[in-house]
This record gives sequence, structure tokens and C-alpha cells, in this order.
Amino acid sequence: MGAEPVRMMERNEAGIARVVARLGERFADRCQVGASIREQHGNTTTWVANFPPDAVVFAESTEEVSEIVKACAEEAVPVIPFGTGTSLEGQVNALHGGICIDVSRMDQVLAVHAEDLDCVVQPGVTRKKLNEYLRDQGLFFPIDPGADASLGGMASTRASGTNAVRYGTMKDVVLSLEAVMPDGRIVRTGTRAKKSSAGYDLTRLLIGAEGTLGIITELTLRLNGIPEAISGGICPFETLEGACNAVIATIQCGIPVARIELLDTLQVKASNAYSNLSLEERPTLLLEFHGSESGVREQAEMFGEIAAEFGGGDFQWAREQEERTRLWQARHDAYWACVAMRPGAKAVATDVCVPISRLAECITESRRDLDASGLTAPIVGHVGDGNFHVSLLIDMNDGAEVEAASGFMARLVERAIAMDGTCTGEHGVGHGKAKYLRAELGDAVDVMRTIKRAIDPQDIMNPGKILPEGLSR
Ligand SMILES: Cc1cc2nc3c(=O)[nH]c(=O)nc-3n(C[C@H](O)[C@H](O)[C@H](O)COP(=O)(O)OP(=O)(O)OC[C@H]3O[C@@H](n4cnc5c(N)ncnc54)[C@H](O)[C@@H]3O)c2cc1C
Repeated sequence: MGAEPVRMMERNEAGIARVVARLGERFADRCQVGASIREQHGNTTTWVANFPPDAVVFAESTEEVSEIVKACAEEAVPVIPFGTGTSLEGQVNALHGGICIDVSRMDQVLAVHAEDLDCVVQPGVTRKKLNEYLRDQGLFFPIDPGADASLGGMASTRASGTNAVRYGTMKDVVLSLEAVMPDGRIVRTGTRAKKSSAGYDLTRLLIGAEGTLGIITELTLRLNGIPEAISGGICPFETLEGACNAVIATIQCGIPVARIELLDTLQVKASNAYSNLSLEERPTLLLEFHGSESGVREQAEMFGEIAAEFGGGDFQWAREQEERTRLWQARHDAYWACVAMRPGAKAVATDVCVPISRLAECITESRRDLDASGLTAPIVGHVGDGNFHVSLLIDMNDGAEVEAASGFMARLVERAIAMDGTCTGEHGVGHGKAKYLRAELGDAVDVMRTIKRAIDPQDIMNPGKILPEGLSR
């Protein structure tokens, strides 16, 4: 966690110097060592300190990625893959120094198989770019983190977003991967078949590995047809608890909502100011329904009945595409709305996820805890999955506030784990949350370490991430 001192770990100075010189010669101006470019490739999104790599190489093909990894492996120098750098737990920091491989120039959609509802992309393609490419074919890719992240980065953090309640997370939509392993070997983890029983599931091993096991150089992704009808709108509630209980009942009744997102009162205020909206300043749910014309009408009616039971106000339809886009853009900009709310403060966006039946309890307890701690921190959530985010806005010059924020985050994780939940539903572990992994997973952490040691015995792939004690135990 950022406020706690994170030290740059042991560095292989001589090896790093030799690799930087070698890559500089080979890649010329595609190997950059300037301070600002290096800083941009360390953590920049949250209060986690910035640890820049020693050089950034802009790779343009799988073969180049393999060549760079081989050069690093020969000298036991760390390699940190980089997509768009929007991860929130310090995942791209070079804690031991080393070489950042930026794959953003590997940004081609290689094939779309409309008849099979899949596509093949390079890792630097972003989610928005893919959807622009697909739109004319009546297809879409559903995973939508707030940032316009790269698909390689999204697979590596096992990302999700507002549509996950209906369409799943990155673990559900990646059919197979091509990856460069820590010795430079190029492997394929599967085919375009929709299912397979062929051996260990290396696809899912690499998804969520945060670049600690290999570098993804190609992804085969499941797609969906754009639904015949889409409708949605907003529903304000009298209380936060009422809004959460409406979500729980909606999911338990099996209404196939495409999106159901919570904004607490503070977040509504922040979004009104930042996105120029005029929503009632109350706990609010944003919803979207996908299906046939009659199907979406039926879903909306069923939701309306549930909402009324839990103190929901009138459901306000956003019938026009333009209006819906404006609302969802505001939802995706929620983090920036928080940042704008307290100029000069650092934002810490932390997420946990609990079983849906515990959602109301976890959110209301967390809200009470925040208020008692005197912290400024809106809550938003992909609540249909039991996943919510707290954006703490911290004055880093105020030691007491920093301490209060650290204390709150530890209690939040403890609360989620005690409810059979997880310390992160979608942001991943990085080095910000590594210390919570053992409390959640116990000895399974040692099995993860065994896997890491077998695949990356020199610990060169994004070292210091996920595993709380690295390979040292
Ligand atoms: C405003 C905002 C809103 C956000 N909302 C959400 C949200 O709703 N849901 C959500 O899940 N996340 C969200 N995030 C977090 C972030 O967008 C995701 O974690 C995203 O998946 C990171 O993608 P990236 O391309 O930026 O990856 P990066 O930050 O560049 O990298 C993330 C990790 O993946 C590794 N990596 C990157 N590319 C590769 C590759 N090709 N092969 C192997 N490893 C690789 C990196 O080494 C690092 O460990 C949000 C972030 C911001 C700033």
C-alpha cells in the first residue's frame, strides 16, 4: 500500500547496464532511457509510489518481445510488460529496476470470425478501439473497465467492468493466448474452439498473472452480437441499504440485467459536478437491459417492482442512445470525478468483492467506517457481482489522514474476507495488495509460488508482484 514505505529491491546493476546498452544498440530510438518516459512507465494512477524501469522498449512484434526477453534472461534482468499503465495497485512498477516492454504499438486486430463470434488481436489493442472496429459487423466486446485499457493488460489483471454481471470477466471471454515465456519461448495456450479438455489450462493461468509468468502477445476473444434492444436508466433510493437490497433481490430473482451500478450520494455529487449532470443527490442505481424489445420491457418492469419495495424512486428512462452514452461515460469517469472533488489530494481506488447476499452489509458497514474515520471517499460499484470500489481522497501531507486511510483499507479487506469475499474483485494484487493474499488464500499462496518458480526460476518476470514474499520463501 502506498503510504507504507515500499523500498526498491535489490538490483542487478551490472546486468541491467549491459542489457540497456545491448537493447539501445539493437532498437535505437525504440529503446528509451529518458527520465520522463521511464516515470510514465512506473505507477502513475494512485498513491503507490512510482518506481521507473531503467529503459522502455517499444516492441512491434512477438519475435521482438521474445528477443528482448531472451536478452534479459541471459543477464537475469527483470522484465515488466506494459499496456496502457492504468492498473491501480502498482503493477507496472519496476521494484528491482529492469526493462519495461511497452506493447502499445502491437495494436492490430488480426482477424474477426463473425461466423464463430470470435476475434484475434494483438495485446496493445484497447477495448474502445476493438469495439469501434467491430461495430459495423453488429458485434461487440463486453468487458469495459473505466479506463481505455489494453486487452493484454486487461487479461493480465483479469479485469472486468460494468457488463460483467451479464457477460463475465476477462477469464470468461479469452479463448486462447499466444505468450512469450520467461526463457523467450513462444507458446500458444489453446485454439479457437469454444471449449477444450486438452491438458492444464494455461490460458487461465496467464489471465490475472499480472505479467509474472509471461508476456501475452496475441489474444483470441469471444464476441457477442449487439442486442436487438437496449434500454436503461437510473433509479434513486432513499437509503444506501435500500439500493443494495434492491440489487440483491434483482440478482436473486434471475433478472438478466446487463449492467447494474451503484453510486453513493457522495459519488453522485462528484459526478454531477464533473460530468455536468443534475441527478438527485441520493444513492442511485444505473441500469441497462439487453434483449428483445419485449424482453427489455419485462426486465425493466420487474426491476421497477423490486425497487419500489426497497424505497426506490421513479425509474427514469434514458431512451435515446445519446443520453445513455452520456450517463455511462459519467459512470466510467467516476474516478476522475472523485479526483476533481478534492484538488491536490491523491486518489486511492480500492476494490473488494463479496457474495451477493452480503453486499448490503459490506457496503453499509464500510460507509459507516468511512464516516467515523472522517475520510472523504465516494463508493461506486459493479454491484450485480458483489463488487464495489472506494475512492479515498487523501492529503498525503497529513500523516493522520494517511494513517486513517491505511487503517480503513486493511479493515475493508478484512471485512470482505470475513464475508467469504476477496481483497480484489478486479483491480488485481500488484504490490499494493500482496500482503493480503495469505489471509485470503492461505497455503494456496505456496502453490502459486511453486508454479512461479517452475516457470520463471530466475524471477525475472515482473518480480515483487502478487506473491507477498517473492520467491524468497
Ligand atoms: C479511471 C480508471 C477506471 C478503472 N476501472 C476499472 C474497472 O472498472 N474494472 C477493472 O477491472 N479495472 C479498472 N481499472 C484498472 C485498469 O484499467 C485495469 O487494471 C486494466 O486491466 C489495466 O490495463 P492496462 O492496459 O492499463 O495494463 P497495465 O497497467 O499496463 O498493466 C497491468 C498489469 O498487466 C501486465 N501486462 C500488461 N500488458 C501485458 C501483456 N501483454 N502480457 C502480460 N502482462 C501484461 C503489467 O505488467 C501489469 O502487471 C481502472 C483504472 C482507471 C485508471
